Amino acid sequence: MAKKSVYFFGGGKADGKASMKNLLGGKGANLAEMASLKIPVPAGFTITTEMCTAYYENKGQLPKQLTAEVKKAMVKVEQVMKKKFGDLKNPLLLSVRSGARMSMPGMMDTVLNIGLCSKTLPGLIEKSGDARFAYDSYRRLIMMYADVVMEKAAGLEPADGEGIRLKLEHAMEKVKKAKGVTEDTALSADELKDLCEEFKAIIKKNIGKAFPDDPEEQLWGGIKAVFQSWNGKRAISYRRIEGIPHDWGTAVNVQAMVFGNLGETSATGVAFTRDPATGINKFYGEWLVNAQGEDVVAGIRTPSPLNEATKNESNKHLKSLEKEWPKVYKQLAGIRDKLEDHYRDMQDIEFTIEEGILYMLQTRTGKRTGMAAVRMAVDMAESKMINKNTAIMRVKPEQLDELLHPMIDPAAEKLVAPIAKGLPAGPGGGVGQAVFTSEAANEWAAKGLKVILVRNETSPEDVEGMRSAVAILTAMGGMTSHAALVARGWGKCCIVGCGAVRIDAKAKQFTVGETVVKEGDWISLNGTTGKVYTGKLPVLPADPDKNKWYSTLMKWADAMRQINVRTNAESPADAAQAVKFGAEGIGLARTEHMFFDSARIIFVREMIVADNEADRRKAVMKLLDFQKKDFVGIFKAMAGKPVTVRLLDPPLHEFVGSLLEDRKELTALADHCGLPAAKVEDRIKSLHEFNPMLGHRGCRLGIAYPEITEMQVRAIMSAAAELSKKKVKVLPEIMAPLVGTKAELAHQRAIIDRVAAEVQKEYKTKVKYMVGTMIEVPRAALTADEIAEVAEFFSFGTNDLTQMTFGYSRDDVGSFLPTYLAQNILPKDPFEVLDQGGVGQLVDMAVRKGRSTHPGLKCGICGEHGGEPSSVKFCHRVGLNYVSCSPFRVPIARFAAAQAAIETPRKEAKGKGKGKAKNAKKK
Ligand code: PEP
Ligand code: MG
Repeated sequence: MAKKSVYFFGGGKADGKASMKNLLGGKGANLAEMASLKIPVPAGFTITTEMCTAYYENKGQLPKQLTAEVKKAMVKVEQVMKKKFGDLKNPLLLSVRSGARMSMPGMMDTVLNIGLCSKTLPGLIEKSGDARFAYDSYRRLIMMYADVVMEKAAGLEPADGEGIRLKLEHAMEKVKKAKGVTEDTALSADELKDLCEEFKAIIKKNIGKAFPDDPEEQLWGGIKAVFQSWNGKRAISYRRIEGIPHDWGTAVNVQAMVFGNLGETSATGVAFTRDPATGINKFYGEWLVNAQGEDVVAGIRTPSPLNEATKNESNKHLKSLEKEWPKVYKQLAGIRDKLEDHYRDMQDIEFTIEEGILYMLQTRTGKRTGMAAVRMAVDMAESKMINKNTAIMRVKPEQLDELLHPMIDPAAEKLVAPIAKGLPAGPGGGVGQAVFTSEAANEWAAKGLKVILVRNETSPEDVEGMRSAVAILTAMGGMTSHAALVARGWGKCCIVGCGAVRIDAKAKQFTVGETVVKEGDWISLNGTTGKVYTGKLPVLPADPDKNKWYSTLMKWADAMRQINVRTNAESPADAAQAVKFGAEGIGLARTEHMFFDSARIIFVREMIVADNEADRRKAVMKLLDFQKKDFVGIFKAMAGKPVTVRLLDPPLHEFVGSLLEDRKELTALADHCGLPAAKVEDRIKSLHEFNPMLGHRGCRLGIAYPEITEMQVRAIMSAAAELSKKKVKVLPEIMAPLVGTKAELAHQRAIIDRVAAEVQKEYKTKVKYMVGTMIEVPRAALTADEIAEVAEFFSFGTNDLTQMTFGYSRDDVGSFLPTYLAQNILPKDPFEVLDQGGVGQLVDMAVRKGRSTHPGLKCGICGEHGGEPSSVKFCHRVGLNYVSCSPFRVPIARFAAAQAAIETPRKEAKGKGKGKAKNAKKK
């Protein structure tokens, strides 16, 4: 443990700095940095994340050394703020907040106004000259403290609706109702004073303990509660979703309170140095007069816009800070420039204005939509604020997904009127069935249904439901409300502050005027404009090419990239789509998908049920023309780019198994083949396997039935020859699946080379082709040096390789994987994210071994991992020539490959395709 556990900041000085995020958490490190930059920050201190770890190691006890260190830091805070903690005349009040290395918005707890008690209250009243303010601060403290420290941190788990916070809120509602007011601000000092006493009585009655009337006790209670909240349910679930390690711990920031609720010259606000939704370079934010920070984020009052330039439909009638208090705005705008210039990235800031004086409470790198991330990165690089590599590293590959995401079809949207309009918090289109609770969202989504979560506002407890929903709609809250922040972070379609929506949670419905939307009814959201529609509007695929920032960034990324990106596709339409997304070839065309076509399935089945070679050959040959046409289409769509065609792979039972339940089809097949139905049935039954994934499939089929391989190779090569003669460039790569030994591939290769020679002779033309194998069986990886002697390329089929390395059935893993993930037995689903430590070792080894006997052996990946960013980066590192993935993931793979080249450049020449595989087609 570092010797020091407490880091002071304030008065233009700080013990810490921005680079100490691991120790001080993001918030603490940046508060220190701001203090050093002479930006006005209320003084305070940060207790390190290491102390959090120590707290858990000591079973909830804080080491003694901490008391002395806190005391020492407190003296400094008191000196800077010219107030004393617990002082009767001029009491210093404190906030106690969490702050992990990575921001976890709203997931952990905060207590404000610590230090207020019966002894210090008169001092605050006297000093502020505002009894109402003092009692309002006191009731906030009691409420938060009871909830966070006395209930949550104490491990009390009251039933739904029985929580202490809710009880206190009800008591306050009752007072407001009795008075006939709706706003908290309408309550007088006396009413608040009585309310505080009532609060304390409710706490005593429900929790069995008195609210502490001692500043020191409050402070230590608050500190412990923040540590405790690191392991609160919602924080754990957020970390699981975001992949944040559980052993990081949180820091605690103890800071002098400044008050935005000290009357009409005080305010609080949240801002972004650029627009976090669009990336436009405009100072963007919201503020509220006479309020504390939680009021803005909670979405209880609609906040006002920061400036004139960023007013929107729902807040254009409200006064901007720019107009209202131009001097303060100017100072804030200056700080904005200073912070952006210093951090060279968009910042998310919180500020408070206490009686006209501006204080900064927080700065951190702002969460942003994918669209905004791309635009800001490019804008900042073009204005030389950052370099191109930094711009590329700024955008998470997954964020590109949003730009590639569907939008509500504008043509269809024009024809219908929206029922309501809210704030566009997360762009893109969302179409789903309305649900009103997070539990319902989870349940419905688990059944495969698309849901939109509709709430008054969201709280951190809703995180899992928000995750399950395709989109989120809230009646309250601004662009910086919880729903907006979380959805934006995830790049999810989201509309907030849609005031016209009236939710009746009991009746499970919402109304907008006369329109009633019940649970399960379809609604459509345009998260880019904030419009809400009833019904199911059509959605269009995204067109990222129209976004010039995206095109620029991708151009920079492609210049950095050292591996190629191909696609998995077997239809000309998919291939064409992938080329539009930048695919440089086909890495996997699964020919069996072509066999299911309705015009030819009967011949496939005829081939399967044939009981002798002659009949089978006859049936197989009926498929030749179909297959040839398939390949002509694909080769044309790829226009000279390499196309890897995989020979038939799945167990034959897959093509005929359903006939056992469908007598009509079975009889039709029997008639077609001129065989008795019983014989056909017997043949199908004989194909049954106990473990088909390890059964008669892959190259085992081509070896048992060489005529299948012959037909497929003839179709591939004659399509290629025909096009070659017409001067269309083709580059076929013929691939055998599920090879485990050199002999298997040698067997198939002999057929491939023989038929290829025959076809070239027939067409009187030469066609360049390659023969290779998938590496899907662990034995193939182990003997890759031998196999490479008869292969010109390897393509890692990491779906099967994962299946066979783990021994997890691809089709049955769902029965235990959720348990494994929940208990952290597996960090990630290995079928989604390549298991680098296990399966990855086999890949790495096979590449080395293969190239040891076959220098320059071309290697790629075509399993699902080829489009997953961390797996793409791994593929770059182990020296693959390309990755191949589904069309919509091609841009993400291109981008991840560029990041990999920046993170761990390969020795070969970088950029503009120079370092790419020799066989790759130049763009
Ligand atoms: C693989 O196993 O990774 C692969 C690409 O083949 P399939 O998914 O078709 O079995
Ligand atoms: Mg496979």
